[in-house]
Amino acid sequence: MQVAQDRVVSIFYTLKDAEGAVLDTNIGKSPLLYLQGHGNLVPGLEAELLGKEPGEAFTVVVPAAEGYGEYDETRTFEVPIAELGPNVTPMKGMVLTMNSPQGGSVPVKIIKVKLATVLMDGNHPLAGKDLHFSGRVETVRKAQKDELKHHHAHGPGGQNH
Ligand SMILES: [Zn+2]
Repeated sequence: MQVAQDRVVSIFYTLKDAEGAVLDTNIGKSPLLYLQGHGNLVPGLEAELLGKEPGEAFTVVVPAAEGYGEYDETRTFEVPIAELGPNVTPMKGMVLTMNSPQGGSVPVKIIKVKLATVLMDGNHPLAGKDLHFSGRVETVRKAQKDELKHHHAHGPGGQNH
C-alpha cells in the first residue's frame, strides 16, 4: 500500500542541517507514526513521502520557508527580568515557556541578558534552517475513523489516548 492522503504511515528518519549535523533522529527507537495529509509533518516532507511503498527510502531537502519558516527578526522581544518570576535566574541560552497571545504556551529562548531586561527569541528552534531529511517508510495502513477525526495517528509512535 502506497503513502496517500488519509493513510497512517510509519517512518524512520534522520534530520540534518546544511552542515550535516544531526538535529533529530528516531533510528534505534520506535518508528514515527503519522497521518498523511493532515499537517502532522512539515509539508515538504509529506510531499516527498506521497506515493512511497513500505521499504522505500527517501531523501529530501526542505527549504526553511517550507519547513519551520524563515528566521523572523521581529519575533525577538524584551521582557523585564522581574516578570520572569522569582525562581528564574536568567542566562543566555535558557529556554522558558511563555503564554502565547493565541492561547497555549510557546518555548522562547533567552538570547541576551541585560541589566533589567532579557532579550527573548520566539522563533522555532529550527526556523531559518534548511531541513535535510533521509529515512525509510516502514508501514502504511488505512486510517481509522477516530484518527481522521483527530487528525493524527493512534498507537505506539503516534498519539496514545
Ligand atoms: Zn486522537
